[in-house]
Amino acid sequence: MIEEKIFERDDKNYLPVFKRYKIVLERGDGVYLYDINGKKYLDFLAGIAVNVLGHNYPPLVKKISEQAAKIIHVSNLYYTQPQADAAAKLVKLSGLDRAFFANSGAEANEGAIKIARKFAKKFSPEKIQIITAWDSFHGRTLATLTATGQPHYQEGLEPLPAGFDYVHFNDADELAEKISDKTCAVMLEPIQGEGGVYPPKNDYLKKVRDLCDKHNALLIFDEIQSGIGRSGKFFAYEKFGVKPDIVTLAKGLAGGVPIGAFCVTEEVAQAFKPGDHGTTFGGNPLACAAANVVLDTVPDEKFLAHVEAVGKYFKEKLFGLQKKYPEKILDVRGEGLILGVELKKSGAEIVNECLKRGAIINCTVGKVLRFIPPLIIEPAHVDELIKILDEVLGE
Ligand SMILES: *Cc1c(COP(=O)(O)O)cnc(C)c1O
Repeated sequence: MIEEKIFERDDKNYLPVFKRYKIVLERGDGVYLYDINGKKYLDFLAGIAVNVLGHNYPPLVKKISEQAAKIIHVSNLYYTQPQADAAAKLVKLSGLDRAFFANSGAEANEGAIKIARKFAKKFSPEKIQIITAWDSFHGRTLATLTATGQPHYQEGLEPLPAGFDYVHFNDADELAEKISDKTCAVMLEPIQGEGGVYPPKNDYLKKVRDLCDKHNALLIFDEIQSGIGRSGKFFAYEKFGVKPDIVTLAKGLAGGVPIGAFCVTEEVAQAFKPGDHGTTFGGNPLACAAANVVLDTVPDEKFLAHVEAVGKYFKEKLFGLQKKYPEKILDVRGEGLILGVELKKSGAEIVNECLKRGAIINCTVGKVLRFIPPLIIEPAHVDELIKILDEVLGE
């Protein structure tokens, strides 16, 4: 069987850092994926919050094909229209002043950390502390895995970059104790994703903003997962009425083409002079052409209202499951289409059973089912998933 050969080849040759599910995905259409045997799967993972417009979205396919036929890459030594357009759109949407494109989330965060450090040096050589949250996730480069408040991502990689400290998300008092004039930046996901889908409570983010202002520290929001319309607003921070000095994006930004970005205020932007940062691939015309399709689609009021409405419908259905299975489900939480179901036990078996029944879902931190589907899902897709989940939970 071709499938067995692919497993064997990949298992033998690919770096063994992923525990993979035993299916070979071949193509996609809207909210569905198909493996090489033609089996159909309902996709409630979207390549980890990436395929915001679903799979094989015709305007995106068309744009990428057209751009590839024109030019894929030119380096950042020259101007291209797709990049100029994408930067202008991000600046307008973020309310910040300048954008930079990288190739991934980790790289976007790495750039944000670098510019924050450089900016703070203007005030004092000791202003180097970067405070992040426990259970956060910011990436896999040395600086971003140090920013990530989960020690298991750091073990064995020491020495780690210096200057990072951690606080508990949603605890403004703890931040008030840790922050000082030596703090260069506070970096948070407005809604924690990987760490278990934790939205901010009450006016936590406002308090964080005030503390940053008090100590002249920059506020960096990592919207790599919560951004691009996922919360029901283009940036989740709009939902909570708090504006950062730096915001980072990636995942859904180009609908599946690798990209990352950070946006900054003009004042912060001036900390970097020509030569202080760079990238070969980042913001190339192919990635930016794809990003432009996303940036022309997702921020639309009707599109975002759809995310909000389907998200609300989905969350209600998940509450329904909690009511039916209180011995299994501890909590349902999230915003828009980043929803989490905290289980009392490990969720691995539920994910496997859903896969057998043709639904792709994810479990993070062992027992939180995390739903981050394409933003184009309809209530009927939610019903389809809930039916499967109901069956699996009922066993
Ligand atoms: C996925 C993710 C990252 C890392 O993105 P990569 O593209 O995998 O480097 C960083 N921050 C958050 C919040 C993420 O969800």
